[in-house]
Amino acid sequence: MSGTNWAGNYRYRAERLHRPTTLDQLREVVAAAARVRVLGSRHSFSDIADADELVSLDDLPGEVVVDRAAGTVSLPAALRYGELAEALHAEGVALANLASLPHISVAGAVATATHGSGDASGNLATAVAGLELVTSSGELVTATRGDPDFDGLVVGLGALGAVTRVTLDVEPAYQVRQRAFNDLPWDALADHFDDVTAAGDSVSVFTRWGEAVDQVWVKRRVTDDPEPEVAPLLGATAATVDQHPIRGLDPANCTPQLGVPGRWSDRLPHFRMGFTPSSGEELQSEFFVDRHDTPAVLEALRALADVVRPVLQVSELRTVAADNLWMSPHYGRDTLAVHFTWHPDRAAVDRALEQVEAALAPFAARPHWGKVFGADAAAIAPLYERLEDFRGLADRLDGRGAFRNAWLQARVLSG
Ligand SMILES: Cc1cc2nc3c(=O)[nH]c(=O)nc-3n(C[C@H](O)[C@H](O)[C@H](O)COP(=O)(O)OP(=O)(O)OC[C@H]3O[C@@H](n4cnc5c(N)ncnc54)[C@H](O)[C@@H]3O)c2cc1C
Repeated sequence: MSGTNWAGNYRYRAERLHRPTTLDQLREVVAAAARVRVLGSRHSFSDIADADELVSLDDLPGEVVVDRAAGTVSLPAALRYGELAEALHAEGVALANLASLPHISVAGAVATATHGSGDASGNLATAVAGLELVTSSGELVTATRGDPDFDGLVVGLGALGAVTRVTLDVEPAYQVRQRAFNDLPWDALADHFDDVTAAGDSVSVFTRWGEAVDQVWVKRRVTDDPEPEVAPLLGATAATVDQHPIRGLDPANCTPQLGVPGRWSDRLPHFRMGFTPSSGEELQSEFFVDRHDTPAVLEALRALADVVRPVLQVSELRTVAADNLWMSPHYGRDTLAVHFTWHPDRAAVDRALEQVEAALAPFAARPHWGKVFGADAAAIAPLYERLEDFRGLADRLDGRGAFRNAWLQARVLSG
């Protein structure tokens, strides 16, 4: 009745999907439900968003309001980044970073600490300056950066309430150029990883763990300085036609490359709104480690090339700056993000994941909350030093446990 997630690998078992059109209706729905979850744009790969009853906030009205003096925008939580970008463009302001796709809802992305790339860029949740949420008693709670417990509220995993409005930091609009480089020798990546990720404001390395890295995508903000001559990047050659991160797929779905300047929101994501992001037939997993461990992590994973490659479409390496958000997988450490776009064969993915997670365990790897992983709450618990505080916050805001679903119990709470 509630359909499936974007990837089609999970069918929501919820028997009711509410679509409130007013805040009061939402408060009534949430207060009356025994077990409830908010559904975002369905881009997670698991049962993270499921419950007996689901609520979509897509029909809740709300304005996008830019406050230039404060340097913020306040918006309805269900808005997609692509829609938000249009509104921001009209106001001449921008966000600092975006994920690989603009199709996802802001609240859903923030709830799982979705990230883009950039040595100096925190995940998308770090842009949150304020939140408004309806708790399971039907109460409307607002919180602003700096408030006690704010750092616990932001990456809320959908467990604290229904987030109705989000306030994000904005800055003056800017332009970005992106270029793809092909066939970076593996040793150049391993020996000069920091130089590779410093080549732009946002850098993505696409690899299938072979002798050469397939592609490096470099996104740089346009400045007044003249654009440097196009030169190879540590032995990788600049592409002369647009690329797709997965070799062989149509780059028409991708944002323009070849160094052509464009709006921040048309270059920072890899994929274009209105087109299928990624391959469309896939599962995804991602793990986060301290970036100081990059050489050892790359070596450990490359040793598993024969295990992962049969079920892998592509891996993506990105960097994320450390933050203070309690349940952020980037909490307290500058991060190397290692992503896997798998073929949609769950049994084969699970077999490969078992070995990947075992190889990454010595590095205290934290899984992406919205993707596929095997770790249970007992394995997750030692990875999050503020976990007890988060559990306390969930008890306070949701004393009757209405937002506790099977995923939360198995992955976060019962350890
Ligand atoms: C093709 C593709 C590419 C991706 N690329 C990236 C990437 O570049 N970087 C990255 O980090 N991740 C990426 N992801 C993962 C994705 O960003 C996350 O799974 C994200 O959570 C999806 O947001 P959503 O709105 O679809 O949330 P959903 O999957 O609908 O929900 C996720 C969680 O958010 C909660 N939630 C949603 N809305 C609210 C609300 N209003 N109030 C309270 N809780 C709420 C849900 O209850 C659930 O717990 C990608 C996914 C896909 C399918």
